Amino acid sequence: MEKSRKISVKMLVLTIICGVLTLALIFSMLYILKQNEKIGEAKTALAEAEATNSQLQTEKNTYESKITEKDNTISSLESRVEYLEKLKADKLNPQVKPAVDPNASAKKALLEAEAKKLANQKAAANGQKLCFLTFDDGPCANTGEVLRILKEKDAKATFFVTNQFSKYRHYLKQIDADGHAIGIHTATHRYQDIYKSEAAFFNDLNTMGNIVKEEVGYFPKITRFPGGSSNSYSLTKQLVYSVYGKGYQYFDWNVSSGDAANTKVPATIAANVINGAKGRDSICVLMHDLHTATAQALPAIIDGLRAQGYVFMPLTADNYGYHHRPY
Ligand SMILES: [Zn+2]
Repeated sequence: MEKSRKISVKMLVLTIICGVLTLALIFSMLYILKQNEKIGEAKTALAEAEATNSQLQTEKNTYESKITEKDNTISSLESRVEYLEKLKADKLNPQVKPAVDPNASAKKALLEAEAKKLANQKAAANGQKLCFLTFDDGPCANTGEVLRILKEKDAKATFFVTNQFSKYRHYLKQIDADGHAIGIHTATHRYQDIYKSEAAFFNDLNTMGNIVKEEVGYFPKITRFPGGSSNSYSLTKQLVYSVYGKGYQYFDWNVSSGDAANTKVPATIAANVINGAKGRDSICVLMHDLHTATAQALPAIIDGLRAQGYVFMPLTADNYGYHHRPY
């Protein structure tokens, strides 16, 4: 009996222990579940916080770029104000003197000389129509034929000579002996060299002048710029005054034969000159003895101009310059 009570007590104790353990287990599980729930909530809260954070970051970036933009606007307005203040100060107290044209007196002198030369030329022409035939870039292989035609047609002309074909320089003597004028067109006629500097231009001009002097005994005082005074080399703008200042008269032209262009048809060259001469009382005709077609066109040119009443004269330094460039 005692033994069975002991067993019952043991059983009771065991049952109580088991019960307590079971309860502990249940509570533990409940606790874990609760904790898991809390972790889940915390994770959701964290994700929400991260999203908010990223949104705030974006907003922050937007505001920062707006601030930068505003700063730039302020800085540009500041420099504008600075500029306007400087402008205002300059107006109130001008520091810069008005620009003085360094060529002003040379321009005036050249204009006056040209006007005088034109008036003298008209007076000397005494109602005749003057034609100055000019041949550039030789002497060359065709120069002899050009001289022969001029003699045959009893017309005087002007040759703006170079030393590009030096073996024909003996024609200089014949040009002079036949009563034509010689002008300097530079020795090399190489634009890239002669228009490099004023010194380079005059060196080349002098070389040719001295060659002419060796051949015919005088240094010409008339000249023509390669490409004309209206060529695209900026130096020429200054050269027109320095050439004039050194006592030269430079000549452009008011009628072009077009023989330097691609068309090398004698009838076209003649028509260009004859049509270009109409309605004028004095002409300076641009031609090149370099081209065979020009020599072939020459008889028709002389006949056509003569029919319009032109007389053919050689140029001198006292003639009007037919200048292209406005002063
Ligand atoms: Zn030329």
